[in-house]
Amino acid sequence: MDPEIEKLRIENEQLKKQIAAKSDHMSISAHQLRTSLSAIKWILKMFLDGDFGPLTPEQSGFMKKAFDSNERMLVLVGEMLSFNHADDTPPAYDFQKHDLVALIDNVLFDFTGETYKKGVGVIFLKPETSLPEITYDEEKIRVVIQNLVENAIKYSSKGDKVIISARPTDSGGIEASVKDTGIGIPEAEQGKIFGKLFRASNATIKEDCTGTGLGLYTTKRIVEEHGGTITFESKENGGTTFTITLPRSPK
Ligand code: ADP
Repeated sequence: MDPEIEKLRIENEQLKKQIAAKSDHMSISAHQLRTSLSAIKWILKMFLDGDFGPLTPEQSGFMKKAFDSNERMLVLVGEMLSFNHADDTPPAYDFQKHDLVALIDNVLFDFTGETYKKGVGVIFLKPETSLPEITYDEEKIRVVIQNLVENAIKYSSKGDKVIISARPTDSGGIEASVKDTGIGIPEAEQGKIFGKLFRASNATIKEDCTGTGLGLYTTKRIVEEHGGTITFESKENGGTTFTITLPRSPK
């Protein structure tokens, strides 16, 4: 092959990789932004609804402005997420040893306002024996836990329960589950649940349940790129349990 053409081909490949890495970074950041904005939304809503006592008209006016701006940001981030799904190149990972229990605690904290307002109980059953420190990319696994917990809360209603648990596996890794008593996934649609942009029929008709159908697709991809697995059990109107395993080390 002409050396000039070969050089161009290599440069083109490198550019493609750079664009893919950037796009992946955008997508992970957008997921995290959405969770943080959602945490702010529910706390502002608690103030606006008078859950912490009555507000003066002036305070209420400012709170409403903050709430509306936050809503606009949520729409923008939702758009960023839906535009940014064209690329399938594996992202770069930063594998380090971490404490998964601390990460789960941290993620759950962001959902406090939302669960309080929705009346959904969230319980983290901490393991009886301490978990091994395992090696993973903390920001990416944060997205995994966020997606599973966010869905469990989103597809539940007042009085439902979300139970998170974690235990060591025989091979030195960790298994973690997120169980809910929400709407469940219709049996006939369960085979498509990890597909890109897929949303089950009972989710699309549920009030206040907007989504992109990208969360589980991204979650599965991240877990598998760590050498882990993701499975679920679900019954329509009978709740859902997602279980992930992560090995001691991805390599
Ligand atoms: P979405 O943004 O729609 O929540 P996901 O990719 O996270 O996208 O999930 C895909 C679909 O899987 C959802 O639209 C919903 O139909 C279903 N789903 C995911 N988690 C649950 C759950 N815990 N309970 C019921 N249905 C769920």
